[in-house]
Amino acid sequence: MFDNLSGRLDSVAQRMRGQGRITEDNIQETVREVRMALLEADVALPVVRSFTDEVKKRALGAEVAKSLTPGQAFIKIVQDELVRVMGGEAAEPLNLSVQPPATILVAGLQGSGKTTSIGKLARYLREREKKKVLVVSCDVYRPAAIEQLETLASQVGVEAYPVSSGDDPQRMARKAIDHARRHYFDVVLVDTAGRTTVDDAMMDEVKRLHRAVDPAETLFVVDAMTGQDAAKTAQAFGEALPLTGVVLTKADGDARGGAALSVRQITGAPIKFMGLGEKTDALEPFHPDRIASRILGKGDVVSLVEEVERSVDQEKARKLEQKLRKGGKGFDLEDFREQMQQINQMGGMGSMVEKMPGLGQYADQVKEQMDGSYVRRQLAMIDSMTPRERTRPDIINGSRKRRIAAGSGVQVQDVNRLLKQFKQMQKMMKQVKKKGGAQRLAQQLM
Ligand code: GDP
Repeated sequence: MFDNLSGRLDSVAQRMRGQGRITEDNIQETVREVRMALLEADVALPVVRSFTDEVKKRALGAEVAKSLTPGQAFIKIVQDELVRVMGGEAAEPLNLSVQPPATILVAGLQGSGKTTSIGKLARYLREREKKKVLVVSCDVYRPAAIEQLETLASQVGVEAYPVSSGDDPQRMARKAIDHARRHYFDVVLVDTAGRTTVDDAMMDEVKRLHRAVDPAETLFVVDAMTGQDAAKTAQAFGEALPLTGVVLTKADGDARGGAALSVRQITGAPIKFMGLGEKTDALEPFHPDRIASRILGKGDVVSLVEEVERSVDQEKARKLEQKLRKGGKGFDLEDFREQMQQINQMGGMGSMVEKMPGLGQYADQVKEQMDGSYVRRQLAMIDSMTPRERTRPDIINGSRKRRIAAGSGVQVQDVNRLLKQFKQMQKMMKQVKKKGGAQRLAQQLM
């Protein structure tokens, strides 16, 4: 997701960085480019308008003119604005603090990934939040949908309330909630019937269902791949239901990203989760600040570290996190190598590449290579370095580079690329520190 937008904004950024003086003229021109980039990414028109208005207003204000690095000041404004349209810095959690069971009604078009997302949410709530979860399908018109949910439920180890096709959806939902109450479930996830396009019958039914279950959360599921249509669908659902959150699915694909930037403003509800694949663990909380950073090609080291922490070696991850907290001080090629090794061990490479600083825009290319030769070559290069070179990469001069390249069977430019990537990561860590991201991260980890 976002590849194209990211590329376009990156070229805007590069040009702005070179600009010593920012004038009203070149701001107009640059804002126009930002506007084009957003339109091409399928961002909804009203969102594009408010976005560019705000960027222009701030850029022409004192902020940029006074800055020593006007180009960077401009990019910062764009970044802030990306965060704002996506609903503010942090991920919004589900609100489950009601008298249990907390009911979550899930609505959206057929094929948007509703049922899959319910399976993912059930797993997430059970494993990460230690909740006892019941799922119920109110898609009584499609036996296959009921079956699909039952299969998913058994896969992720939660109970599915039995439903037959032809049952009354409201009655089934109420019965499931009643069952949940009597058996001390914490959460009930209610799947609803979708249609392939918005129609009145579907909206009426989901509205009635909403009244019948009075949910703690009403989530709208939207397929990131549907471009401009995503905004229209979001608007229709937002008008019919008091949405409390959005699940953005298929964010792993090559969607242009318009839905991610539009749905918040259109529905008033924040994106709470994004789906990143077909498997039941491919769900992540949606962090606007991190996504904005990814869009601007700055990577997302915070998520990267969290992922490493969750999936591999806790001890090593903790060490890395400490270095991150010190703004990357002490982060050397040994750490970089360890990270590479861990990435290599982890199956899900795709989502990680996008989070590597400087790699976001190459996500697709890298994804192809990463699983095979790419990581192995990176490791071979680091292995061909002396311990001193690994801890003090700045001593690696031309002749050392040639030796390392020969030792690992690569070209000197490969060594250069590795070193550049390493430097970008160090730089990113400094930024994380400045923004207080590391403190947040540390709090989450302890
Ligand atoms: P529903 O009709 O809304 O319940 O949609 P489904 O849950 O049946 O999903 C429709 C298709 O989208 C299925 O093939 C899913 O595997 C796929 N899908 C759902 N979420 C994602 C996602 O986040 N990424 C990808 N790549 N595929 C997804």
